[in-house]
Amino acid sequence: HIPVITIDGPTASGKGTVAARVADRLGYHLLDSGALYRLTALSAMRAGVALDDEQGVAALAQELPASFSNGDIFLAGEEVGALIRAEEVGNNASKIAAIPSVRQALYALQLGFRKAPGLVADGRDMGTVIFPNARLKVFLTASVEARAERRYKQLIGKGISANMEGLLADLQARDERDTHRTVAPLVPAEGAYILDTSDMTVDEAVEQVLHWHTL
Ligand code: C5P
Repeated sequence: HIPVITIDGPTASGKGTVAARVADRLGYHLLDSGALYRLTALSAMRAGVALDDEQGVAALAQELPASFSNGDIFLAGEEVGALIRAEEVGNNASKIAAIPSVRQALYALQLGFRKAPGLVADGRDMGTVIFPNARLKVFLTASVEARAERRYKQLIGKGISANMEGLLADLQARDERDTHRTVAPLVPAEGAYILDTSDMTVDEAVEQVLHWHTL
């Protein structure tokens, strides 16, 4: 059986970075499931499909021309890795992610990432819905202040101006939506290890996950 490690958690918790590093260390494949929701949101924005047009957005998700290669993310052959990181795309992704038919449309696509020798899957419902039988499940979190600060430094580092209060409000709104939606709400999966990284470095978080993996 092909082993799966799921890493779920709230926005800006660092789970994407940790998941990529763990996958790299183990030589496993990586599923950045948030990217699929972001790509679907970007497709809708470009096609002029309204975000509350459930059938329209689900149809785009069903036929999503997504591909991943060496950390690059492609939509119909165009590299859009940086584009889909924009806050606007993230916010829209969180809106369309609340549509059940969109989640259903992306289900089979996500299962297909499980390939030998193993998979690290990061998102919100990897351990609860997509890979409930995963070998190791981690719920990676951090205080909203720690997450806002990390996002702030990231943006400033990229030369983008940011304001702490706005970021905090934005994170809280996204958390609220992701936690309280009716489909696949963000909660720790049964049997998940909780990892609070508020006072941890990325290296420490990676080592902890790798340690759990050996148990
Ligand atoms: O993880 P990331 O910030 O890229 O995800 C963008 C949005 O996609 C999240 O705010 C969340 O609403 C949604 N998402 C989801 N289920 C996943 C991954 C992401 O609902 N497995």
